[in-house]
Amino acid sequence: MFEKVLIANRGEIAVRVIRTCRELGIATVAVYSELDRDALHVRLADEAYSLGGQTAAESYLNTPAILEAIERSGADAVHPGYGFFSENAEFARAVSGAGATFVGPPPGAIEVMGDKISSRLAAEKAGVAGVPGRSEPLTDPAEVIAFGEEHGWPVAIKAAFGGGGRGMKVVASAAEAKEAMESAQREAVAYFGRPEVYPEKYLTWPRHIEMQVFADRHGNALWIGERDCSYQRRHQKLVEESPAADFPDEIRRAMGEASVAICHACDYEGAGTVEFLYEDGRFYFLEMNTRLQVEHPVTELVTGLDLVALQLRVAAGEPIGLTQEEVAARRNGHAIECRVNAEDPAGGRFLPSPGKISFFRPPDGFGTRTDAGYESGDTVSQFYDNLVAKIIVWGEDREIARRRMLRALAETAVEGVATTIPAHQAILSHDDFVAAAHSTRWVEERLDLSGVTASPATVAEGDDGERRVLREVDAEVDGRRYRVKLWLPDLGEAASSPASGARPTRSKRAASGPVAGGDGNVTVPMQGTIVKVMVKEGDAVEAGQTICVLEAMKMENPINADRAGKVKELKVKPGDALGAGDVVAVLE
Ligand code: ADP
Repeated sequence: MFEKVLIANRGEIAVRVIRTCRELGIATVAVYSELDRDALHVRLADEAYSLGGQTAAESYLNTPAILEAIERSGADAVHPGYGFFSENAEFARAVSGAGATFVGPPPGAIEVMGDKISSRLAAEKAGVAGVPGRSEPLTDPAEVIAFGEEHGWPVAIKAAFGGGGRGMKVVASAAEAKEAMESAQREAVAYFGRPEVYPEKYLTWPRHIEMQVFADRHGNALWIGERDCSYQRRHQKLVEESPAADFPDEIRRAMGEASVAICHACDYEGAGTVEFLYEDGRFYFLEMNTRLQVEHPVTELVTGLDLVALQLRVAAGEPIGLTQEEVAARRNGHAIECRVNAEDPAGGRFLPSPGKISFFRPPDGFGTRTDAGYESGDTVSQFYDNLVAKIIVWGEDREIARRRMLRALAETAVEGVATTIPAHQAILSHDDFVAAAHSTRWVEERLDLSGVTASPATVAEGDDGERRVLREVDAEVDGRRYRVKLWLPDLGEAASSPASGARPTRSKRAASGPVAGGDGNVTVPMQGTIVKVMVKEGDAVEAGQTICVLEAMKMENPINADRAGKVKELKVKPGDALGAGDVVAVLE
């Protein structure tokens, strides 16, 4: 077994890996960007090395800096977590070149599964059908039209090197083919540096069901169990569960066996996930992720297996040490995971909400697990993924797990940033969740989040026109305890002195309100970087018109004028880094 593992990642997954290493008696090495100097993963590791830089490219994607940390620490293995370098064959080779073991599959397997076209071909070779599509890049919009006419509309045009829910265009008819193909190619180049796109039939009401697999270098490959990850926004997962509800055993077995066949076809080793779309009782190969998934804990809770420990053992050359029958016998009960992202789900918009977490209290209790990357006082930066924590629960059956999750969500307190928790509460308490009547489109098409607010209002104007703030205090009346809400004149922070036992329920930042004030200043609601400016000084704009696009946490957010007017002053250009509340334009 390894003596010292360097974790080339940050946030909750770095913390997750550190914990298992500690249990196995393995020393841990953290690496960090300038913004993460005091992050939780750094605080928990035995040793830590600075990578410098702020953005991912300058830090967690800086190979020479990571190689130097490997050398200085003497780590004999590198765990890449997910994201960043976890599916990068060149990085895996560089780690081996530095004399350490890359905890992941061989570079050849990463490469085969690295793009969606070559992974479709590998699956076909193993006898597993993909979503009906073409396993070669498109060169002419006429090919999209021919494909749509043969397989029916809508058609998805996907970036071969796409990922993270990005790089897919849905084409409803032949008339849209040209424009959609060109825009898909433009986006593919912009985001992934590669222009290849290909068509797939767009399934209109599928579920996303994926299979956890494990293989070792002794020729053993096993399927561990499936996860239903259909609750998504922007093609990104929000809630995952295992087992998939209303999913017959024979289909589970067929999906498991297909996944194992794919492992053998690409000489796979280590943990992997084979993703499928499932519709009308049939499953179609989507892609294979050659790493640990964010949602791996649901599989851990239903099998009792520590998948990180298994990854480390297999990477150290040990056999998996389990048979397919033993895995089947281990599966027990039901697990659900909710991703707590720093995002404001109000109105179904899921806007990024980076900032300082002024207070965080994770849930606790029977069958409840929290994998967090942050504690109270830590800051969620706009430069990285906005996953704050994952709440995972186990129950004897799906309904018990569902109720436990609702209890855990209600118990969780996060202040200072908005989170996806209100959306999770809406999802888990919906009749369609209970009936498992969902699909990958369900959150965006059926779930009504119009009434959801990320946080209750804490500032209001009284009848007298005076600003009032909400304070909560505990009061006893005749020996019975009550929590009392008081709307008090705003006397500044001193008013919330702890003498009352009250804590301000939200930070000042969160109460600071909408995107643009009526004063003509158009401001940004969050920290981010300007990627595009859509107007010039002197332009007349309408209310709601986009002034510029702000990228924060890997998402593009249009910054719109709140009223009509002429652009008197434009204060930003592409590349500018802004803080919450900064003015981008002044309207006359
Ligand atoms: P990524 O690599 O960005 O995660 P995937 O190919 O894994 O992209 O797809 C992500 C999600 O996009 C799926 O879970 C599903 O919701 C949707 N999706 C992808 N391909 C299709 C398709 N052909 N039809 C319908 N939905 C699709």
